[in-house]
Amino acid sequence: MKVTFWGCRGSLPASYSGSQTKHKVKRVLELAIDHGLQNHTQIDNFIRLLPFDLQSGYGTNTPCVQVDGGEEIVICDAGSGIRDLGQMLVGMGKNIPRKIHILMSHLHWDHIQGFPFFVPAYIQGVHINIYGCHDNVEETFVRQQRTPTFPVALRDMGSHIEFHTLDPSKSYSIGGMEVSIIEQPHPGTSYGFRFVQDNKKTIYSTDAEHSDDAQSPDYPFLKFIEAADLLIFDAQFNLADHLFTKQNWGHSSNLIAVELAVRAGVKKLCLFHSEHSFNDEELHKFELDTKRYLKIYNEHAILDIVLAHDGLSIDI
Ligand SMILES: [Zn+2]
Ligand SMILES: [Zn+2]
Repeated sequence: MKVTFWGCRGSLPASYSGSQTKHKVKRVLELAIDHGLQNHTQIDNFIRLLPFDLQSGYGTNTPCVQVDGGEEIVICDAGSGIRDLGQMLVGMGKNIPRKIHILMSHLHWDHIQGFPFFVPAYIQGVHINIYGCHDNVEETFVRQQRTPTFPVALRDMGSHIEFHTLDPSKSYSIGGMEVSIIEQPHPGTSYGFRFVQDNKKTIYSTDAEHSDDAQSPDYPFLKFIEAADLLIFDAQFNLADHLFTKQNWGHSSNLIAVELAVRAGVKKLCLFHSEHSFNDEELHKFELDTKRYLKIYNEHAILDIVLAHDGLSIDI
């Protein structure tokens, strides 16, 4: 199983200003002062040693994650990241996969807004299956591309687009993987997906607010994520934001992410749906703080933690 992240920001694509770039360049040059860089090899080595927020960045796209277990393309959510995924697929030329599956966690704007820019949807012979547990998935996709908000109607895109309503109490075989579902607390409800193949388990769980009932040992989400190889988890907020200003906004904190992952024996935790107003420096600090909290919560726990970024690829 291979997981590739094309969009990781929550609620809105993150902007990237000139002043942020200038700030980054200044910090890099300050760090370079004492290194006496003489040639390209030394520069490459220097870049490799920079903190992640300076040598790269966390990206700007809204949610889109590719979870492949075989030949067919399986995608979670159609945020703005699906545009870049589409460009990659189109770059395969005649070998572009003919069968694409898109699973929708829910229908908030940041999870559907990329679909009109998903170029494979304009190619005849491509078959796109769109799945969701809400009963208005098709209506929402059609409405998004209705005049006056977009010039091309969904049914005029060229590919064969088919909608499937899933029953969250059932399991399905999609793209060579077994997919099961959990209902999650979020305005309008969202659904998490568990992908299993060859005893490997990946969970895609975004837009979910875990509250006090998560402390119960019988909390159903614990069973759902038990012993997962990879847990992709909505950690848009830090604890202060979650407690004091953004309670009931439908998202969780990095701390509850760590606690649930440790309690369920998860191997790797990927913090996801990152706050769109955080710049790379703030997100890097958020990632380091989360790793520090793991040591406070349970110093013996073995849990790999990473903050998702556009372009991140994880082999399970
Ligand atoms: Zn969202
Ligand atoms: Zn949402």
